[in-house]
Parts: sequence; structure tokens; C-alpha cells
Amino acid sequence: MAVRNIRQLGDEILKKKCREIKEITPRIRELIEDMKETMYEANGVGLAAPQVGVLKRVVVIDIGEGPLVLVNPRLLESSGEQTGEEGCLSVLGKYGIVTRPMYVKIEAWDENMEYREIEGEELLARAICHEIDHLDGHMYVEKAEDGLHDVEYEEE
Ligand code: ZN
Repeated sequence: MAVRNIRQLGDEILKKKCREIKEITPRIRELIEDMKETMYEANGVGLAAPQVGVLKRVVVIDIGEGPLVLVNPRLLESSGEQTGEEGCLSVLGKYGIVTRPMYVKIEAWDENMEYREIEGEELLARAICHEIDHLDGHMYVEKAEDGLHDVEYEEE
């Protein structure tokens, strides 16, 4: 496993649409493991493959409940609304105010290509929407209602 370099805003690869994954090859398995390691190393709650330079439809998410691997995720339902702070490992040191659904239901496959439907609320719903956007070449900065703000780090 290895920590991969995270592409930053302005990198053209972040604007591209990703391709579906047809089977979990050893390379895809390695990609998924590296994405998890890269996300944890960067203290993120989610990471999409294009952020490490790979145009495939896979994301990893961990909102503190263990890793979730979503292969070819697709939104089935959404409802409600939440407006709050959102950041991205490809836009370090910044955050924006973004409105997302309060609830989503998606379909996806896991790292063994097992089909599942997943429901998420609040932070999980936000993370899922954010990461699926990456797979279609979109970033939260396009949706930030009041531009980008600097994250202020508290000194301990
Ligand atoms: Zn992001």
C-alpha cells in the first residue's frame, strides 16, 4: 500500500468524467487500498479516484464509522436540504458553504463487486454527494454559496 499524491484544484484531471469499473482487477484493488491510506493520512472523510489521478468510478468515505468503498455509485433518491461547511482534500486550507440533500439513497458495489443500496443522512449524505460529484468532474467550489474561506487552525 502507498499514500498517493492528491491532485489540487486547477488540475485538469479533476474536471474529467470517470469511467465505470467493470471488474475488480488487482490494480483496482491496490487503488482502493491506496485511496483509503491516502484519505486517512490526510485526515479526510472522503476521497475519489480522480483526486489521485485515476479516472475510474470509485470513492472511499469514512465519517468515523469505518471505511465505505463505493464502486460505480449512483444516486437513487434524495430528499431534504442541509446547508453547511464543506471542504476537500483537493482544496487544502479552504472551506465553503454548500447546500446538499439531508438524505440520500444510492446504489453501489463494494470492493468485492457485491451490490448494495446505502442510505445516508447528514454528514454521510453530504460526503456521498461530494464524492459522486468528483466522479463527474465537479467540485464543491462550484456550489459554494459565498466563495471560499480560509480554514483557521487553532493553536493548541
Ligand atoms: Zn473533494
